[in-house]
Amino acid sequence: MKYRNNAQNLIDFIYKGVTPFHVVEEVKSSLKESGFKELQLNESWNLQKGEKYFTTRNDSSLFAFITGTESPAKHGCKIISAHSDSPSFKIKPDAAIGVNNYYIKFNTETYGGAILSSWFDRPLSMAGRVTMESNNPLNLDKRLVNFKKPLLIIPNLAIHLNRSVNEGVAIDKQKDLLPLAAIDTDATTSKENYLHQLIAKELNVDANKILSYDLTLYEYNKGTTMGVNDEFISSPRLDNLAMVHAGLSALKSAKADRSTQILAIFDNEEVGSLTKQGADSPLFKNIFSRIVKSYSSDDESFYQSVYNSFMISADMAHSIHPNYQEKHDPVLQPVINGGPVIKITANQKYTTDSESAAIFMALCKKAKVPVQQFVNRSDMAGGSTLGNVLTGQIDIKSVDIGNAMLAMHSVRELSGVKDHTYLIEVFKEFFCQTK
Ligand code: ZN
Repeated sequence: MKYRNNAQNLIDFIYKGVTPFHVVEEVKSSLKESGFKELQLNESWNLQKGEKYFTTRNDSSLFAFITGTESPAKHGCKIISAHSDSPSFKIKPDAAIGVNNYYIKFNTETYGGAILSSWFDRPLSMAGRVTMESNNPLNLDKRLVNFKKPLLIIPNLAIHLNRSVNEGVAIDKQKDLLPLAAIDTDATTSKENYLHQLIAKELNVDANKILSYDLTLYEYNKGTTMGVNDEFISSPRLDNLAMVHAGLSALKSAKADRSTQILAIFDNEEVGSLTKQGADSPLFKNIFSRIVKSYSSDDESFYQSVYNSFMISADMAHSIHPNYQEKHDPVLQPVINGGPVIKITANQKYTTDSESAAIFMALCKKAKVPVQQFVNRSDMAGGSTLGNVLTGQIDIKSVDIGNAMLAMHSVRELSGVKDHTYLIEVFKEFFCQTK
């Protein structure tokens, strides 16, 4: 029962977390319910020991922590990191394009490395952040918007007009991927202001006040458990909201102890992390430093805290694919519902080393959860995540892990019901341990 409940909670969480802004909004309200207090990055912090806090950056990255009852210089910080973004499509400014004075389609740009073919022929919706005029140009009015209805679709070209469609077709990002939005034969409809009008109607505001937006497409249909034994989760954005949700569940149930516990959720992992709210910026180091300085302001304490800390960099991993066994390492072949996967590469795209892998194995053993290991086939480059980017900013000991999944970066991904509970239990175990 606990497996099903945790899986359903994850599906519900993902359904609301349609963009990084909405993920942060969801995490925020969940943390507030659990007694976490919000801090603003641009105000002074007066942290107390053994208290719960969180802060956000750009409304799309979030950092939650429970301050230790003793100094991090002695007992370190336990950190779980994950990312809030997923591959998608951004709506360009002035996006409405008329076709034959009849159809209206939207101009888009791909965000991250999506499996583009998976986005065709399915109802899509649109959500994001809108910025509007106020009296002060340096302090504008920001709103989240989520249309929450099937609004757009990218129709395939019929097979009769493209006989080679089943032999693999190159997809032109500018031509083939513009979603159809409406039939509008009214010649007076302004294409220039079309999106602003649409947003204004949804938010019930004056369209003339809308200055800019940050909108992305998302799969309209909700995720579900499935399979003969209901063993799978089929859902958008499992990479990486499954890790965000598991980290959040563990932090919410954690109690204050001697070391400080941190959940770090970064935006922009899918495009390389080099943004002010991404892992390749001074953001995390600044937050870490502010926590440490609330105990002691000398440099020594900061360095001791760095070297007494440990991070679990959590991002999804690949299961062996039942139709493509040859794409995987001949020996290490993780499976769905086989427990969390430790990710290892000789090229150091993952932060795992033998010591940090062993730490994670020991945590799994304590939590009575099975554990697996992943390596790339030696002739394949494989992926990467934010762990090694973040350790380039602050050199904390770290391991890269994730749950095994199929169809990573498809609009609809597949993971395991049991694995989600396994990972929550390991994360809880991690937060319970004191160095
Ligand atoms: Zn990821």
